[in-house]
Amino acid sequence: MRDAAEIQHRMTLFQQRCAELGLANTHQRQVIFRTLAESTSHPTPEEVYRRVRKKIPSISLGTVYRNIKILVQKGLLKEVAVHHEPLRLDPNLSDHHHLVCRRCKSVADIASEDVEPVRLKAALPAGFQVERCEVVAMGLCAACAMKLKQNRSH
Ligand SMILES: [Zn+2]
Ligand SMILES: [Zn+2]
Repeated sequence: MRDAAEIQHRMTLFQQRCAELGLANTHQRQVIFRTLAESTSHPTPEEVYRRVRKKIPSISLGTVYRNIKILVQKGLLKEVAVHHEPLRLDPNLSDHHHLVCRRCKSVADIASEDVEPVRLKAALPAGFQVERCEVVAMGLCAACAMKLKQNRSH
């Protein structure tokens, strides 16, 4: 869970962006976005659905998918592709990188200021324009590293 002030900040930004884009800020969209804004885990759309259903029991998976798709298209949510894993969603719209645990597949943010800018050394295919580079650092989260260590010592 994130702290309340940050969640509130994200909700305020979300409402402003919806107004700027002329996107209806429906109750369903607010609940979907808040569910993501509260989360630090980069959930899959199915996980978002399971959490949203606790607040709106009548909502369907299709409705959640449709709203998520619109929010991604409008730039209010980002998608994170994790190698060989289902799509994950990210409400953090500032430039940042990710730490991915290879064991539990958790995805954590790492601020772009905390990573040296990526420099491409090889020539790029003609005409390709780089807009940004995202780093995915694979490894083991603290909890998984601890579990593996415990397993080994038995
Ligand atoms: Zn892990
Ligand atoms: Zn992220």
